[in-house]
This record gives sequence, structure tokens and C-alpha cells, in this order.
Amino acid sequence: MLNESRLLAVAGFPVGHSRSPAMQRAALAELGIPWRYFRLPLPPERFEETVRALPAAGYAGLNVTVPHKEAALALADSATPTAEAIGAANTLTFGDRGIEAENTDAPALIAALGGSPAGKTALVLGAGGAGRAAAWALREAGAQVSAWNRTTERAKQLSDELGVAHADRPRAAEIMVNTTSVGLDGTTDPLDALHLAGLEPPPVLVDLVYAQGGTALAAWGRVGGSHVVDGLEILVRQGALSLESWTGRVAPLATMRAAVQDGLDID
Ligand code: NAP
Repeated sequence: MLNESRLLAVAGFPVGHSRSPAMQRAALAELGIPWRYFRLPLPPERFEETVRALPAAGYAGLNVTVPHKEAALALADSATPTAEAIGAANTLTFGDRGIEAENTDAPALIAALGGSPAGKTALVLGAGGAGRAAAWALREAGAQVSAWNRTTERAKQLSDELGVAHADRPRAAEIMVNTTSVGLDGTTDPLDALHLAGLEPPPVLVDLVYAQGGTALAAWGRVGGSHVVDGLEILVRQGALSLESWTGRVAPLATMRAAVQDGLDID
């Protein structure tokens, strides 16, 4: 089956900025798998009907990004416990058992840490889809998780639903994970926006945001001696797990890292 001509894509809206095509095409080439990987810009009202047509059109699976992760879970015939618990899926696999939904953002975070977070304190900044995945993944892996968000109600809801603590303001933790979009525009000061001024950089800092030259938050961590995991590494890890689900092959991480980095250099 791996030598047949199959198709893959990333669906989002917008999706023009996505580095997944470059990363996944490089990985498929490295593995010698002749599948093609596309970018599918799908407005929300076209998402479900389009996805349902993809298996018959030769697609093996789909990466799903903003704003479709909840819809992807809703339309699937089955889902992993991780995707169900988080309430969102970023990976769909089309096979004999119909449409299977999975969330690889959560295990990607744990894999990227480079060591178990069990017994460690972890602070998740943000309560959107990425915040839910991070809080759930860290809690499942045995960390003592608290969640802070600019809009307090959202953090409280996340905390209640996922069984983690709510932080009314950011506090010191051994692992800090920024899942907010602060840093994307390159102008907002993350220490102000995330109320981190006065805190020491944590031993481990994960910033899901990625930007050319690195984010200001990652620089704060590096200068302060944190072990920094950047958003590109999380992107690579989630994509690697998706590829492994579709193909059953071990993903070539180094090739995928080089491909996302090349994309940044071109922009
Ligand atoms: P989302 O559901 O829209 O959530 C956005 C979050 O950012 C909310 O918690 C929001 O707080 C917060 N926020 C936005 N502007 C803020 C500001 N000025 N100050 C403080 N908080 C602010 O988005 P998402 O899907 O969770 O994604 C969040 C980020 O993670 C995005 O930048 C995305 O690109 C990144 N991400 C990266 C990867 C990767 O592979 N590297 C994977 C997934 C996501 P409120 O609730 O108060 O609005």
C-alpha cells in the first residue's frame, strides 16, 4: 500500500502559512513513499462535506488545523481517548474502519520535553485548543498542572473539565508552556501580556508560537538558562506522529526539522 499513489493534506482556514506541506513532503521523500501532500484551504461551511469526499478521492489522511479541530473530531467514526478528552483532533486517518480521529499535539508536547514531567509543577498559559491539549497531556504524564488565561472564565472551565488547578496569576513552575498566540505578531511584549515580569525563567520553557529568528519569550528563557523547546519542534513532533499513523513508518525527525527551518528562511 505504501508504494501506491495516495494523497494527504493539511486542511485549515487560512492555511497558506502552514509549514506542514514542506515538512511532510520532505519526510515522504526521505522514506521513499510516493504519496503527495497538499494544502487544502477549507472554509468552515465546506469542511465536513469535503472531508467526507476525500477517502474516495484517494486520500489516506488529513492534518487539521485552525479552525477545524473540533469539527474534525465531531465528524469522525472513531476517536482516540486523547482526542475525546481534549475535545479536538488534528489528525484524521481514512481506512477500513472509516474516519479515525487522533490528537497528536498532546503527545508531541511530551515527546519534545525530552524527559518525563511526572511529579513536576507545570504552568499552562492559555486556554484555547492548544492549551487544552497541553494541560491534558501534562496531567496524563503525571505533572502537577495549573492553567492561567487572560480571560479567567476560560481557564476555570478548562481546569474544571480537565481536572487541573486554576491559577489566578502566573506563578513559578518547573515547566512553563505558552499556548497563547502572544508572540505571533512579533511586537507584543510577552512578559507584559502574560504577566511574567518579576518571575524567573523556568527550568523548562515551551513556546508553541514560532517566528523567524525565534520568539521574545524563548529569548527570555534562553538568557535566563531555561531549557527552551520552541514551536517548530512541537510542529515537527506532531507532524511526525501523524505521519507514523498514516504510514506505519518511523518518521525522519531530522529531515522534518530541516524542512521547516528551510521554510522559515525563505519567508
Ligand atoms: P486559540 O484557541 O485561538 O487560543 C488563543 C489563546 O491565546 C487564548 O488563550 C487567548 O486568551 C490567548 N491570547 C490571545 N491574545 C492574547 C493576548 N494579547 N494576551 C494574552 N493572551 C492572549 O488558539 P490555539 O489553537 O489554542 O493556538 C494558540 C497558539 O498556539 C497559536 O499561536 C498557534 O499557532 C500555536 N500552536 C502551535 C502549534 C505547534 O505545532 N507549534 C500547535 C498548536 C497551536 P483569551 O481566551 O483571553 O482570548
